[in-house]
Amino acid sequence: MDNLSTGTFIAVSIILTEMKSEESSTNLTYKARCALCNQLGELRKSHIIPEFMFKPMYDQKHRFIVLSTDKKEPNKFNQKGLRERLLCPDCETRLSKWETYTRDLFYGAGVPVTPIDTPSGRFLLMEGIDGTKFRLFQLSILWRASVSKLSFYKNVDLGPFEKQIGDQLLASDPGDFDFVPCLLFALIADGKPMDNFIHIPEKVRWSEMIGYRFVFGSQIWYYVVSKRKLPPYVREFYLSPEGSCRILIKDAADVSFVREFAIDLKEMGKLPD
Ligand SMILES: [Zn+2]
Repeated sequence: MDNLSTGTFIAVSIILTEMKSEESSTNLTYKARCALCNQLGELRKSHIIPEFMFKPMYDQKHRFIVLSTDKKEPNKFNQKGLRERLLCPDCETRLSKWETYTRDLFYGAGVPVTPIDTPSGRFLLMEGIDGTKFRLFQLSILWRASVSKLSFYKNVDLGPFEKQIGDQLLASDPGDFDFVPCLLFALIADGKPMDNFIHIPEKVRWSEMIGYRFVFGSQIWYYVVSKRKLPPYVREFYLSPEGSCRILIKDAADVSFVREFAIDLKEMGKLPD
């Protein structure tokens, strides 16, 4: 894990051809059906995961460094991230309010955060969150990834939940907070936030439940997609309607998919010095 702790930039099995087409496309707008409201409109080109979530992953020259595990592809830089025309201006505006709130939550004034140590590890308790806004933002990321045609998000398919969550977003309705909750983890390496890691979203199974794992910044967001209620000890960890949320702190060396990916890259000689 030495390479992870030296601040090297690591990223991932990303779909590089997508980035090439992204760079070569124009900014012309055209009429198509909005993925959320289904109305014809001039769709905006926007990020599935908002740019601010990638912010910590830019280097000093403001480049987003992407490494591929594909031996044929050299390491590449990309400044724009992945964008797609999905939403009409009205829906874009609707979602952007929750984005702005969440950006301020993590990168602005924020809310009180209390570190709490337990025998099983440390977590951060965030309190005073606007539960509705943050919950709708969390759902909007998952929903956008599910409707996206970009192959970076190919593993995310909500099936029947896609429409249900889309309807909630349209109605600005956070719904039942136990439905598709999102568990938050902070990745650290040598005691510091590991903010240079990005990984393709993946479908994972956990205790007979399906989940989707997103990694950005120094965080892992793990959505549980199931009709079953989570056990009480887990329910304490995701966002409550009252606005408290816990972030579990994980050492990168203890997170198996991070460790395995680093080993893969190292063996392929793709980790930068
Ligand atoms: Zn719309």
